[in-house]
Amino acid sequence: MRLYNFKIKKFKYAKLLIFLWITVIAVLCGHLLISNLTAPRLPLLGFHGVIDLQHREDKVFRNQSVQVMNYPKAEMFELIDYLVREDFWFITTQELYDYFITKSKEIPNVHLGQKIIMFSFDDGYKTIHTNLLPILEQIEAKYGRQVKVVLFVNPGTLANYESDRSIHMTCNDLREGLSKGYYDIQSHGLTHKNLTKISTEELIKELADAQSKLRECTTGLDKNNQVAAHLAYPYGATNGKVEEYASKYYSSGYLYNSKVMKIGWLKSNYQIPRLTINAKQSAKYLDKIADKAYKLTKNYGNWMLSYLF
Ligand SMILES: [Zn+2]
Repeated sequence: MRLYNFKIKKFKYAKLLIFLWITVIAVLCGHLLISNLTAPRLPLLGFHGVIDLQHREDKVFRNQSVQVMNYPKAEMFELIDYLVREDFWFITTQELYDYFITKSKEIPNVHLGQKIIMFSFDDGYKTIHTNLLPILEQIEAKYGRQVKVVLFVNPGTLANYESDRSIHMTCNDLREGLSKGYYDIQSHGLTHKNLTKISTEELIKELADAQSKLRECTTGLDKNNQVAAHLAYPYGATNGKVEEYASKYYSSGYLYNSKVMKIGWLKSNYQIPRLTINAKQSAKYLDKIADKAYKLTKNYGNWMLSYLF
């Protein structure tokens, strides 16, 4: 009889213990889920070219697959104009790295109260220079605010002569936008190869030569050594080996995976997510994405950042 009671008690304790464990795990999972859902969001937008629908002679227009990757100029103006009126901070790769990835620098007071967004453009298309740069200049003339955009460029595919007919920008185009303060020029590999599918020798060449050529192109203009310090993997393709080699030359690596960056949820600074943007997404739709972006406020911002990192 005594033995029977002891067994019942033991069974009850075991049940209680299991219940407590399940409760603890459920609370932890719930906490993780809530902190993931409520984590501050930084939309890092990944575009390609910007086409002027009024100018059908734009060479890129002849290629339908390229056309969909381009964003219409009128909508681009509308989008940037809206974000500037809403006082967004167009963050650069180095700023993102310093203030949100490594947290090695304190966020300047001037940015408190602002929401954050990044505009990045891959592949160095000529239309960035012919269609986007004039928008940035118009916006600056209208509001007195300079918008910076990130260009992930393959120096191996840059046009090596001055011609508005070429598909890609020239080195002089890059120099002009950089000296005017609009371009944050970063690497997209030397010749846009899938870095996961090439030999180690080729991988090193794609990473190292892209960096040295972009720095060579911008000689004398890059006082803070910020050109080609960061990388966007061509096709967003990466793996452990690519990231290991990328880390020898670059401080961070960007994906192209249609995901929004959540502060505190970055797996590694070589896996920074970007939202893939094409002509099918209207300016109004992108306004909505941006509206959900993280707003920097002194107390909330500092508490959140120190808590999460
Ligand atoms: Zn690309």
